[in-house]
Amino acid sequence: MNSEAESNNQKRGKIIVFSAASGVGKTTILDHLRSVMPRLIYSVSATTRKPRSHEKDGIHYFFMSVDEFRKKIEAGEFAEWAEVHGNYYGTPKSFINRAVESGRHIVMDIDVYGKVTFDQAYPEAIGIFIEPPSTEELEKRLRRRGTDSEETIKLRLSNAAKETAFAENNGKYEHTIVNDDLDRTKHEVIDLVNKLINK
Ligand code: 5GP
Repeated sequence: MNSEAESNNQKRGKIIVFSAASGVGKTTILDHLRSVMPRLIYSVSATTRKPRSHEKDGIHYFFMSVDEFRKKIEAGEFAEWAEVHGNYYGTPKSFINRAVESGRHIVMDIDVYGKVTFDQAYPEAIGIFIEPPSTEELEKRLRRRGTDSEETIKLRLSNAAKETAFAENNGKYEHTIVNDDLDRTKHEVIDLVNKLINK
């Protein structure tokens, strides 16, 4: 590699993808990461869902029509996309490319299934999987939260087990962090992200 390519290479930002089984506390952990490391860029998805009252275009999502979204699918503009509850959601490549080409590091939150598709577009992405300590502990946490019915708790537990098995068998995660203690996990995530972006 010549020195110019090498220096261009060094300037490229890193793509760090977080996945977790449902109910593992990923949102809390990522909110904390965002507050401690404000220079990281968080990916903004595109959606055909109508904006909620507090949501701003380009900040929470890129809101667009179904027609527009379908055209972008055909043009290969999404790193991955899915239909969730009757609306389309997708990760625009342009947003990621702009960030990494300008040397900014980008943090993504993608479910275990979307991550497989995402890796085809960005094989260099670094995967971090956040695991629950055990099914028993996850069940205790969901019950302690007190927001879900018995049926929902059962569904969440079975989804979490499926997602964890899928991540182990089909996922590409270079790092796994077990969330057995939220404060310790927050520190571990920050240490790891610091290490990855300073590599
Ligand atoms: P909400 O409409 O509540 O903001 O999100 C609904 C669901 O869409 C969530 O489960 C969220 O994870 C998923 N979602 C949001 N953005 C994307 C995306 O870019 N790709 C995929 N595959 N799912 C997404």
